Amino acid sequence: MCSPLSDADLELIRRAEARFDALPPEQRRLIEAAVQFGQRAVDAALNPPDVGPSIIPELSEEEEDADLHRGRLLHRLQKRCDELYRQKLQRHPACGLKGALHLSRPSALGGVESVLFRPRCGRIDCPCCQRRRLCRTLKRAASCVLTGDGATYLPRTEPLFLLETTLARWPALDRAIRRKHGGKTGRLRVIRSDGSVLVVMEQPYPGAEPFAPHLVWDIVEAAIDELAPKRHAYRQLGRWSDAVRSGWKLVQRTSEFVNFASAKGYIDGMGHKGRLFRTSELQGLIFRTGTQAEANTLVGAIVAAAHPTASVSEYLPSSLEVLGESRTATGEPTPPDDPPIDFPRSEEREPSRWAMA
Ligand SMILES: [Zn+2]
Repeated sequence: MCSPLSDADLELIRRAEARFDALPPEQRRLIEAAVQFGQRAVDAALNPPDVGPSIIPELSEEEEDADLHRGRLLHRLQKRCDELYRQKLQRHPACGLKGALHLSRPSALGGVESVLFRPRCGRIDCPCCQRRRLCRTLKRAASCVLTGDGATYLPRTEPLFLLETTLARWPALDRAIRRKHGGKTGRLRVIRSDGSVLVVMEQPYPGAEPFAPHLVWDIVEAAIDELAPKRHAYRQLGRWSDAVRSGWKLVQRTSEFVNFASAKGYIDGMGHKGRLFRTSELQGLIFRTGTQAEANTLVGAIVAAAHPTASVSEYLPSSLEVLGESRTATGEPTPPDDPPIDFPRSEEREPSRWAMA
């Protein structure tokens, strides 16, 4: 039988064994223990132990109660959102028709993965986008208020603390809360259209009233119904932050129409493989390049082909109002979570149609 290893390989192994034998006994024992540990880890990964059905922990009386409230309120909210979505709404003329965002992230296959997609407009005067914003905000808030922290998805039982303030006083108040309880303390705030701010906290604060979570939800829902028409009017902060770091970075944006089918043709022609996609929210194109510069050039060329006067503008972090809050995660946009864009009105358009972010 001939060995699958070459003579050079065998020689390497022989030399390694000789080096190992020459080590002091204590060091040899440590290495052997490490090898055995690694072997056990590999065995465990290859032959996972049989795990029986996991047992759902019994709820305490208090949790049982909170769970009933949560079920009732989430059902009410779902019915409300279903009702809203049954209405036929007019889109803003610019909604989902113009503009494209170019996002990139490192690809698992090497190089850079890019997505070029057309987001919804997110305008305050677009009924469709406002409905989406309202329903999403309500669902985020409901799960934050009614469900406890941790992976168990148990209903929240401990009281939450409510405080009313104004937009002008909020930054100082948030600083004071952070000084008292640390930046990780869970809190959310809702800016209403009249400039008043509802604050909900997991820890007590002077002047804040404790309420049971199901009562808090009614107040938060009423506040969200009067949500101010501006970005980040609703925010969850500290431990309650639900921002997800997606790895996608916004690289470029245009307010011009991009035809993704012809863009795919162009990208394929340049030796990259583009893939078109369409969901209920978005449509666009995914492709992979060796470098970010290559991706930017491709996107620049796609837009230049359709709009010869256009020039490429890089995305700069825009006027995200931070309001002095400690941000636990950067507000990076992700493809399904498109940020609102201000589209210039057609009569105000400049010859160069790339909009700076
Ligand atoms: Zn819209």
